[in-house]
Amino acid sequence: IPIIELKNLTKTYKNGVEFRALDSANLIIQKGEFVAIVGPSGSGKSTLMHLIGLLDTPSSGTLLIDGRDVTKMSDKERSAVRNRMLGFIFQYHHLLPDFTALENVMMPLLIAGKSRDEAKSVAEKLLKEVGLADRIDHRPGELSGGQNQRVAVARALSCSPAIVLGDEPTGNLDTKTGDLIYELLRRLNREYNQTFIVVTHNEELAGKADRVIKIVDGKITDQ
Ligand code: ADP
Ligand code: ADP
Repeated sequence: IPIIELKNLTKTYKNGVEFRALDSANLIIQKGEFVAIVGPSGSGKSTLMHLIGLLDTPSSGTLLIDGRDVTKMSDKERSAVRNRMLGFIFQYHHLLPDFTALENVMMPLLIAGKSRDEAKSVAEKLLKEVGLADRIDHRPGELSGGQNQRVAVARALSCSPAIVLGDEPTGNLDTKTGDLIYELLRRLNREYNQTFIVVTHNEELAGKADRVIKIVDGKITDQ
């Protein structure tokens, strides 16, 4: 079964008139795919990501995650799926400034109920994986933009999510650093067979994905 399936998924907003930010989207994503989402500003990319990430609820249609219809779930069940299956990387890293890189990556594991020892060992392994073994005791203010984004990648992966969502994860970085982060995501995708869905404005980066999905005016035009 597909890891993600959208059937006529629609999100409407009412700004006086009703407006479809996402219009009857049909999409199937298989486990392990690395998918890029492209489209003009305001076309509905973030709306799509927020629906798949269970940060927002659709107006109509069906969303299946790992075969389960999340549109029929209670808020509590949806939160459980979000915490267990989804990892998020945003344009800005959103790390906690008063905590070290290690503590930031440990946080989701501790919240998920892991012991301190286990959280520490997983966080250390992930920070090593993203090339920050020698920076684990640094706070965000003591790290560069690219290093902080790598900490954010490690944090997103901490609870071994089946699906990793990136909303322009390289958008705030210079081209070279952005390329390195993108390469890192691709490598992690291949190594762990996790599914990656990444919004990007960078066509060169999109070209390196397994598949490019294009959205225009709330409609998926290519996939
Ligand atoms: P993108 O990520 O491609 O830039 P978005 O998904 O953020 O596009 O937005 C799609 C459209 O939906 C835009 O026209 C935007 O103004 C509108 N929109 C997004 N969020 C809201 C909201 N909370 N209320 C009203 N309109 C919204
Ligand atoms: P933008 O798309 O405007 O650059 P972000 O990508 O940072 O902004 O955030 C997009 C949306 O995701 C916002 O509506 C924000 O409320 C939500 N968001 C950001 N960070 C988190 C988070 N850590 N957990 C849940 N929702 C978040």
